[in-house]
Amino acid sequence: MSDFYTSIAKSSVGRKLLTAVNLPVPATLERYTGDNLFVSGNLLLGAAPGGKMLDVVANLVADSTLKVKVLDKSDTIDAVTKAIKGAKLEISSVTPSQEGDISKYRALVFDATGIETTKDLRTLYDFFHPVVRKLNSNSRIVIIGRTPESSTSVGQATAQRALEGFNRSLAKEVGKKGSTTQVIYVETGAEALADPAIRFFLSPKSAYVTAQVLRISKAKLNRKKIDWSKPLEGKVALVTGASRGIGASIAEILARDGAKVICLDVPQAEEDLKKVAAKVGGTTIAVDITDPDAPKKIADTLKNDFGGADIIVHNAGVTRDKTLGGMPEHLWDMVIDINLSSEERINDALLEADAINKGGRIICVSSISGIAGNFGQTNYGTSKAGVIGYVQAMTKPLSEKEITINAVAPGFIETQMTAAMPFATREVGRRLNSLSQGGLPQDVAETIAFYANPCGNGVKGNIVRVCGQMLIGA
Ligand code: NAD
Repeated sequence: MSDFYTSIAKSSVGRKLLTAVNLPVPATLERYTGDNLFVSGNLLLGAAPGGKMLDVVANLVADSTLKVKVLDKSDTIDAVTKAIKGAKLEISSVTPSQEGDISKYRALVFDATGIETTKDLRTLYDFFHPVVRKLNSNSRIVIIGRTPESSTSVGQATAQRALEGFNRSLAKEVGKKGSTTQVIYVETGAEALADPAIRFFLSPKSAYVTAQVLRISKAKLNRKKIDWSKPLEGKVALVTGASRGIGASIAEILARDGAKVICLDVPQAEEDLKKVAAKVGGTTIAVDITDPDAPKKIADTLKNDFGGADIIVHNAGVTRDKTLGGMPEHLWDMVIDINLSSEERINDALLEADAINKGGRIICVSSISGIAGNFGQTNYGTSKAGVIGYVQAMTKPLSEKEITINAVAPGFIETQMTAAMPFATREVGRRLNSLSQGGLPQDVAETIAFYANPCGNGVKGNIVRVCGQMLIGA
């Protein structure tokens, strides 16, 4: 559905009018179009003393067209320069006040893994303060820290946890121009496993993801070189609820990235499902996931026809909104069963039949309603919070089988589900976030494709919100 407000904001007269009455003017977000794996322009790289992530960042930046710069007054200029030269990148050092418009940045990356005390938090100010007003629109900020829960001292745990508040507040400052900021917490020993996450957050693929905190845990490192424009080549993916909306987009994006996609939806949606499958060169399973035979049917298809699947995306979901007092029991049962219990049953059957390959990825779709709650959605909020609990509880047992599980929690995404909302609720949903606009199904799908990446072994038990930093539940 078209966003009338955003189309007004795109005209120069509309923009002037909205600014005059102090209303937000949504930036036009740059999304992935096939050749922009990274944003392009200047990247400023910095670190707190003792940072351990500079080599990882410099090596992956070597795959981009980003031009790397360092602040010439920085205490860590030697360490940063060494990492950049090690990656055979060209480098220039800058004094922001002298460079004027030449030094506008598209990316700021700060290695905060060396921060060990609250006093060290001053390094954030020193790095970001001189340049934060020199960001171009659609810029990317990535702060890499150490997982607070595995810190070795109270001071380190405190200071590292503080990065979250910095990140979330900075996201609100830079969101007006369509820029995003994230924290990646890397467990000691998991440094190389952070590569796909840094790439994703420096990419237009993460256009609608901001103010997030992602944890990278220790896991087996996949040393196989991958083609980053087709990272899912040779993989088999199942997507539930694939006949329309976010599910159809997930199918398209996983196929774009090289996966063979099995599209699943209810028999009533089979005609649309076949169209999606034809478009992505995939196959279909028409089944209601709450059907008692569904788990076995799905497991048999994956095992017998494909020799197992690599990526399972639990996207099918429904809303049946009523206040709790007015909710008939069948609507409570239906929402819990489709959105939550069926996922558990399907995963149990797939694991029992050994239908998920080693290195598999299970990706669930939660919702901001499962984090913040929503009026009239006790059934939906319960189901989507349950998805988060399920992901967290399954992370450890699945990692023993070398399978990761993660979830996305979309905010306001432009689909038939949100088009059916009353006008006022829809407008509020669209505007109440730091990017002042709704997301697209593509934004959720890109995050899912990131989770599916074969190098993502260290990305497990995460809940990434795809919500433009929605003001509720942030
Ligand atoms: P949608 O209604 O457009 O699509 C949902 C799909 O799931 C439909 O194709 C439907 O037929 C299928 N489905 C429903 N019940 C099923 C069943 N029993 N068996 C098999 N398939 C079934 O919704 P959407 O907006 O694309 O949402 C996709 C997912 O994202 C859902 O889990 C939803 O809760 C979640 N989500 C959406 C938003 C949003 O803003 N659109 C926000 C947060 C979360």
